[in-house]
Amino acid sequence: MDLLNTLVDKGLRRELPSREEALAVLATSDDDLLDVVAAAGKVRRHWFGRRVKLNYLVNLKSGLCPEDCSYCSQRLGSTTGILKYTWLKPDDASKAAAAGLAGGAKRVCLVASGRGPTDRDVDRVAGTIKAIKEQNEGVEVCACLGLLSDGQAERLREAGADAYNHNLNTSEGTYGEITTTHTYADRVDTVTKAHAAGLSACSGLIAGMGESDEDLVDVVYALRELDPDSVPVNFLIPVEGTPLAKEWNLTPQRCLRILAMVRFVCPDVEVRIAGGREVHLRTMQPLALHLANSIFLGDYLTTEGQAGKADLEMIADAGFEVEGTGQVTLPEHRANAGGGGCGSTAETACGSHEGAGCGSHEGAGVCGSAPAASTPAASTPPVGEPRTDLVAVRRRGAGTDLAPNA
Ligand code: SF4
Repeated sequence: MDLLNTLVDKGLRRELPSREEALAVLATSDDDLLDVVAAAGKVRRHWFGRRVKLNYLVNLKSGLCPEDCSYCSQRLGSTTGILKYTWLKPDDASKAAAAGLAGGAKRVCLVASGRGPTDRDVDRVAGTIKAIKEQNEGVEVCACLGLLSDGQAERLREAGADAYNHNLNTSEGTYGEITTTHTYADRVDTVTKAHAAGLSACSGLIAGMGESDEDLVDVVYALRELDPDSVPVNFLIPVEGTPLAKEWNLTPQRCLRILAMVRFVCPDVEVRIAGGREVHLRTMQPLALHLANSIFLGDYLTTEGQAGKADLEMIADAGFEVEGTGQVTLPEHRANAGGGGCGSTAETACGSHEGAGCGSHEGAGVCGSAPAASTPAASTPPVGEPRTDLVAVRRRGAGTDLAPNA
């Protein structure tokens, strides 16, 4: 297919595809899906080989948020039965992080619900970062605390943070339909602040919120413009108790096309499959490793992921390898650019508390009693019906007395 050959050539040169080309990837048919994955896979292997970076989420503060992000189970008015707790003590957070690191993670993402941190909160998180770094040599720490005020990014950098996550989530044109208590411009401002302070910027999106293909292309192009080093791609977990609970409109094939489009537009950036991986890709997860070079290990912020052991087995079975602490994630031109910066000449991180990872505090949102997300359903309910068989609220790990899933 000429389109795919063109996109591979551009990806290897870090050249921005046209909007028409990006839209065409999203419009490919299921018959062409393996060709799309193979083409984007060439770009992924060129910049990242067969390495998979593992990230581990620690939810420092869960629920009780005054913001109204529609996708988030921690939002104001959410009736989802998630864990609710205030700041974890540094030692407890460090213990939670250690479990993820022992499971193979090289980056810990410290996430807190809320509009943004106070200066006292930043001091608190600085203590946690120091505790984690003292106890775990070589660990990367990413903070995801919401909107930053002047000077806070610098203070986090001084405390040892390597990265800051704040997702754009969706296009500027639709942002106001998703959240009313802050703006798209607020989010851009925080990513810019993190970048300017020398933190590696992490900013991504949430797909599946009812957006159009044009919206998806808009947000991915906006991300390339912001030049983050990592782009988490969340697939909406429609959590019972949130306004988007009925938005079950993603298929595994659609998710793969979205990841391929992100890879073509941000070829040399750490593309991370974030919240919704197990729920929406299901048995197609191994194919997605040909597109993304990074995942979260174990559980998400408020929902359960598949067992960490299953993640490791999937990576090995698919012919990939877990990236070690001695290996540099980013391509040389980007790694040498210093903190922040996808470094690419071109235009082009948890940010939106939701999703799964940083920046998307919830990501992991979700419904009440359901079995663990590790067991794909044998049959698929009609589109629009709740998939309570696929989503389980997190009841273990940080904020509980139970061992984490890592
Ligand atoms: S995404 Fe973050 S800011 Fe928005 S409601 Fe959830 S915790 Fe609050």
